[in-house]
Amino acid sequence: MKYSKYISLLIMLLPIVVFAFVKPAKIVLPQLAGVECIKEWICIDNHDRFQEAENLYETSLSKVERKLTKFENKPKVVFCSSNECFSKFGFNKAAGKSIGGFGVVIGPRGWKPHYIAHELIHQWQSSNFGAIAVWLGPSWIIEGMAYALSDDPRKKLSEPFQSYTEQYTKEFGQLSGPELALALEKEI
Ligand SMILES: [Zn+2]
Repeated sequence: MKYSKYISLLIMLLPIVVFAFVKPAKIVLPQLAGVECIKEWICIDNHDRFQEAENLYETSLSKVERKLTKFENKPKVVFCSSNECFSKFGFNKAAGKSIGGFGVVIGPRGWKPHYIAHELIHQWQSSNFGAIAVWLGPSWIIEGMAYALSDDPRKKLSEPFQSYTEQYTKEFGQLSGPELALALEKEI
């Protein structure tokens, strides 16, 4: 009996410990990072920039869905306009980060359609193939696809991403929609 009490206490404390020490876990409950979820799928730290965030979200989402397939549920994106907000999720230098199948956090320098599309592509990969399969999947497909299909304006990416993108384009560049999903399923 004594031990079962300790175990129940541990189970009760676990979420608190996870949220306190695993910063990206806040994507599940972004309010813990001080952001407001104005829509179920758009959270933001600065109310005044909501319209800008929503426009970026909708443009990027429809572009990704046109090339791939429709999302079953709209992926959650947290828009951080400050470094302070971004660091509460455990990030600093990146433009944005996709956190498993839970959603995306966009940092202050990531408010651009290609960065948002890039992270939404990672969400599409997770929702179609599973977050663990994507995590373990070949980087040239996972990253190459995100760079190739997000209309990244950079002529030449840093390595290894340039090579990943070239390899992806060579193997899958002709495919889109369900046909692409099927071909990728065999590889991821
Ligand atoms: Zn990426």
